[in-house]
Amino acid sequence: MTAAPNQFVARFRPLRLPRVCVAVTGSDPSEIVEKAEALVRDNTFLEFRLDYLARPVLALGRIKQFTEYHPHVSTIATCRRVANGGKFRGSVASQLDILTKAAAAGCQLVDMELQSAVHCKRTQLERLRTRAALILSYHDFRGTKKLEETLEKMVALPADFYKIVTTATTLHDNVVMMKFLEKNSDRYSLIGLCMGEQGIISRVLGVRAGSAFTFAAVSEDEKTAPGQVTAQELRSTYRIEQVDPATRVYAVAGDPVLHSLSPAIMNAALRRETVNGVYVALHAKTLKDLLGCVKEIPIHGLSITMPYKEAIVSHLDNTDAHTTKIGACNTLVRAQDGKLYGFNTDAAGVVRPLQQRISLEQAKILVLGAGGAARAAVYGLKERGAEVYILNRTLGPAQKLARSARARLVKRADLKKLTFDVIINATSVGMGNTRESPLNENEIRTRYVFDMVYDPPETRLMKMAKAAGAEVIPGIEMFVQQAARQFEIWTGKPAPLDEMLRVVNRVIEERAAAKDADDGLKKK
Ligand code: NAP
Repeated sequence: MTAAPNQFVARFRPLRLPRVCVAVTGSDPSEIVEKAEALVRDNTFLEFRLDYLARPVLALGRIKQFTEYHPHVSTIATCRRVANGGKFRGSVASQLDILTKAAAAGCQLVDMELQSAVHCKRTQLERLRTRAALILSYHDFRGTKKLEETLEKMVALPADFYKIVTTATTLHDNVVMMKFLEKNSDRYSLIGLCMGEQGIISRVLGVRAGSAFTFAAVSEDEKTAPGQVTAQELRSTYRIEQVDPATRVYAVAGDPVLHSLSPAIMNAALRRETVNGVYVALHAKTLKDLLGCVKEIPIHGLSITMPYKEAIVSHLDNTDAHTTKIGACNTLVRAQDGKLYGFNTDAAGVVRPLQQRISLEQAKILVLGAGGAARAAVYGLKERGAEVYILNRTLGPAQKLARSARARLVKRADLKKLTFDVIINATSVGMGNTRESPLNENEIRTRYVFDMVYDPPETRLMKMAKAAGAEVIPGIEMFVQQAARQFEIWTGKPAPLDEMLRVVNRVIEERAAAKDADDGLKKK
């Protein structure tokens, strides 16, 4: 006999579960309950990971007090066995006993793995379900395979929710999970997501595809599964409570992409302009995987970053004039018919901050570099009538660019004699460190220095430029402006620039503070 679909909905409708359940761990009963107490103000759905305790049963008295004191909080009791990825070393019988007692202590839901449940009598599971809603769970720590077969095995047992958690080793695994949820969530109450860094999108988009809720970590340091996102991030950055089937999906794709500032800035812009959209990060290890994912998940817009800006061009159905000239695409739009259109907004990212300060017509501008970003700058500035000079470490690419854009080449030895209105650093020198600069002090003879590098926020070149009396334009302005242009292309609305700048500066400050704290800890 198989379980009747969606039994939970009928029996526990009053629970009205929130979208995000926060996993709470602790090394002793006081710690786990104190953590829960600290969380309840912002989180009304908690999972007590009893298996993290040496003697789970000793926590149940405290948990009973907690559930009585916070009747508005929904709680799951989980006591996952070691064999199934948890920390509980006891038998299935003692796991069942602990979960039954946890239900008596007021936990409205209990989680038991399929591998344990198959060793229980049907009557035991039915009895447990009279006390709490049962989440029957299955975890695959290696891949995302055989979801339908697994569900078939699971629904042979009575439960209120069927939870399938797999591991994403490719972006496509998220597609598999989402299609599975879309297909089956109207028949069963499902919880589905993929673990791992590549599975982060399934934690946000799974609820859009039909997962009843998703799991989050209390903080960065307290993740109970790989790739888990914090509850704060899910709610404030991704606005998970509002994600619905009509939500448009946007993403940044690259490798690496974990530390990208784009989700923070773009989600802030979507929120400010009340666009029903969510912006996630796609860690694409190959272009093929990325393209497959884009075609199958209805992604509306994509920011392309390193290393795919150039390689993606030949896969697009059409491109704007900038992309064609520059040979690199940083913005993709997926039309309703599935066709992919490419744009390049890096040129706008360079031109806009400069136009706010000077007239570009005949402005004398030196561009350092001849890579993708330099090409965007050179073409963008030439279009605005600037007199553009190019200097690159390797002569070949500089010559090619100068020829095609009708710009001039400069020799490094001549820099001491030349003055410019603007010097733009479009090389990667200075990225990630404050010791390297693409120029020496005596080569900075200009009114403005525009450093495209934005990590760190203040580069060596920027410090030297200030000392030389030049005004500095930080790379973050380019980052915000190119993102603003992307936002405009995708939504047709003007971008909330001030909000985007405010958010990006806040994130940079928070990261710098976290790094300082980390460095401080290491020194101790
Ligand atoms: P890219 O295509 O890989 O080009 C890198 C450029 O840097 C090439 O011209 C390369 O010269 C030069 N370079 C690398 N190492 C060097 C060194 N040690 N000494 C001298 N020159 C060196 O990269 P890209 O996409 O153009 O990006 C360039 C920089 O712009 C990166 O730092 C990127 O983060 C930044 N960027 C910022 C934004 C923003 O929004 N602020 C947007 C796009 C890019 P060779 O030809 O000699 O190799």
